[in-house]
Amino acid sequence: MAGRLVVIGGDAAGMSAASQARRRRDRDDLEIIAFERGHFTSYSACGIPYWISGLVDYRELITRDPETHRREHQIDVRLRHEVVKIDLERREVVARDLENGGREVREGFDDLVYAAGAVPTMPGWARTDAGGVFGVQTLDDGKALRHWLDGDPKPKRAVVVGGGYIGVEMAEAMIERGLAVTLVERGEQPMSTVDPDMGRMVRDALNGLGIDVRTRVTITGLTTEGGRVSGVRTSEVTIPADVVVLGTGVRPNVRLAAEAGLPIGPTGGIRTDLRMRVIGVPGVWAAGDCVETLHKTTGQPVYIPLGTHANKQGRVAGINIGGGYATFPGVIGTAVTRVCDLEVARTGLLEPEARIAGFEFITVTVESTNTAGYFPDAAKMTVKLIAEKGTGRLLGAQIVGRSQSAKRIDTLAVALWNKMTVDEMSMLDLGYAPPYSPVWDPVLVAARKAVDILHST
Ligand SMILES: Cc1cc2nc3c(=O)[nH]c(=O)nc-3n(C[C@H](O)[C@H](O)[C@H](O)COP(=O)(O)OP(=O)(O)OC[C@H]3O[C@@H](n4cnc5c(N)ncnc54)[C@H](O)[C@@H]3O)c2cc1C
Repeated sequence: MAGRLVVIGGDAAGMSAASQARRRRDRDDLEIIAFERGHFTSYSACGIPYWISGLVDYRELITRDPETHRREHQIDVRLRHEVVKIDLERREVVARDLENGGREVREGFDDLVYAAGAVPTMPGWARTDAGGVFGVQTLDDGKALRHWLDGDPKPKRAVVVGGGYIGVEMAEAMIERGLAVTLVERGEQPMSTVDPDMGRMVRDALNGLGIDVRTRVTITGLTTEGGRVSGVRTSEVTIPADVVVLGTGVRPNVRLAAEAGLPIGPTGGIRTDLRMRVIGVPGVWAAGDCVETLHKTTGQPVYIPLGTHANKQGRVAGINIGGGYATFPGVIGTAVTRVCDLEVARTGLLEPEARIAGFEFITVTVESTNTAGYFPDAAKMTVKLIAEKGTGRLLGAQIVGRSQSAKRIDTLAVALWNKMTVDEMSMLDLGYAPPYSPVWDPVLVAARKAVDILHST
């Protein structure tokens, strides 16, 4: 008799798991049902800022629509179905058909993949009946924002709340659309995914684009006029706004999981083993923005909700459900983004993270250029390294620079992943030609300088 796999969540993690399971087990061996409460499957939320800015069309963000999943993988996708309960004893899920008055649907499972993603953190002040306040978590959110931006009256002033990578990308999108933009961040600098000294450069770049960046600001409320948002109230002033975009972070979407008794870890995410099996619950798997994972540098659980992890974790779960063997080894905190032509990247630990983890370390920051210095358009590129005192092991790296700077973080990520010391890194055989780097690549210069500092301390 065929087994049955039920998937909750039809995006990166859930559909990767479903597709991988199908590759290994045909429909006679495994029936697959995927519940998705939204209107889309397998879409790139990462592309939302570029759709809002007008760079891409939203249809290009959808990798596989439900019809393709049904036709090519024989996955029974149930769109607009929200799972409301997981009954582990009866081994079934209860869902509501949102298009048909919430009609109840029950489906049993042999295996269950929980891939319900994350929920945006919604500050109390942002809860309003007035129009003009938007998150950018899903394509449906993006559609609502685009509709508002194209509406009548056309918004002219945007306030973006939160200076993380989503806030910064959305600030750029609003500028691209011709709005006057204020970015509000409660921390010391925007781009809190890098240390403040590197964030300072991001701030300068944002200012250079005409974005009014306000840091160490606490928001106290919104002002509204005629049912529309008209401003963002802070402890000091009210910033006029016709549209407010929230980039205030996310937390794991684990309500259903917790209600069913799945184990929740210290970061708030579901606990799994390296094969993405939920700890202590046979036949139940979890992947993506709803789980916590292992930080390979600290050995501690960590919550880093990124598409790159969701896809890999879903794939791992699917391979295992399909009868293969795969593990997700953990993460080291690599991330990359850009603000117009300024690229920002990190891997490993930031200074405060290294301190909390109990490392003694040195830091080094070097300024170089992205191409040979004499090359046309050579531009400044800054590399910061964090290395452990004594061993010289690389603990973290950050890069801010122009064209072709940020993806150098991948070299540093591989070094960090493999526990290389800055000494070993300083002689790495990296490619060189004038259009791509100075003869000493900035990564090598930073490693060399770190070695000097380590030897002198
Ligand atoms: C604006 C933006 C930009 C981003 N940029 C990047 C980037 O550059 N790089 C990067 O690595 N990551 C980026 N991310 C993060 C990335 O999009 C997420 O990590 C990824 O989408 C997580 O995939 P997931 O499948 O775990 O969760 P999700 O994509 O959130 O999918 C979960 C799905 O489950 C559905 N669901 C939830 N509850 C239920 C239920 N009860 N019943 C049925 N369905 C349910 C939801 O509707 C949703 O479609 C970005 C995110 C955003 C919002």
